[in-house]
Amino acid sequence: MVTGTHIAYLQTCHRKLWLFAHGIQMEHTSDIVAEGKLIGETSYADRARKYTELALDGIKIDFYDAKNKVIHEVKKTDKVEKAHIAQVKYYLYVLTKNGIDGATAILEYPKMKQRQVVEWEEGDEALVLSYIHEVSQIIQQPECPPLVKLSICKKCSYYDFCYAGEGDELIG
Ligand code: SF4
Repeated sequence: MVTGTHIAYLQTCHRKLWLFAHGIQMEHTSDIVAEGKLIGETSYADRARKYTELALDGIKIDFYDAKNKVIHEVKKTDKVEKAHIAQVKYYLYVLTKNGIDGATAILEYPKMKQRQVVEWEEGDEALVLSYIHEVSQIIQQPECPPLVKLSICKKCSYYDFCYAGEGDELIG
């Protein structure tokens, strides 16, 4: 089943997508702890009271404002990434498929003290369907896509896995 994580990884690295889809998960504990701390700093208790967790068709939205139909997605990065937008567009797609129309999403960046509203727009359904198609094509490949040295590799949880025996200086 396609999840928001698959859609996000499609935008960042096809190798990462394939590894994740094949059950190879190497999330650093420190990342998870850091994320929890960050969310904690933005009053987790208050959020938990105002929003509900929504699990639907393979997606899990941590902070959903059911009254106003708003998805809140907290990101720990210091820039808005295409992957984040694609991920919440996928969430909006799943909501519409389940009869929840007119929802919006807010990407929250506590590090930058910024928010970005993401709406469900004309053409988004075709876009999301193309993402789903591409995800299934990549994960059905029998072989893991080759290592492509990217600037994001250094922060990737698969770094050790991908770069075993490679030289760090080759990362662009
Ligand atoms: S380390 Fe780089 S190549 Fe490997 S999965 Fe992560 S982003 Fe992709």
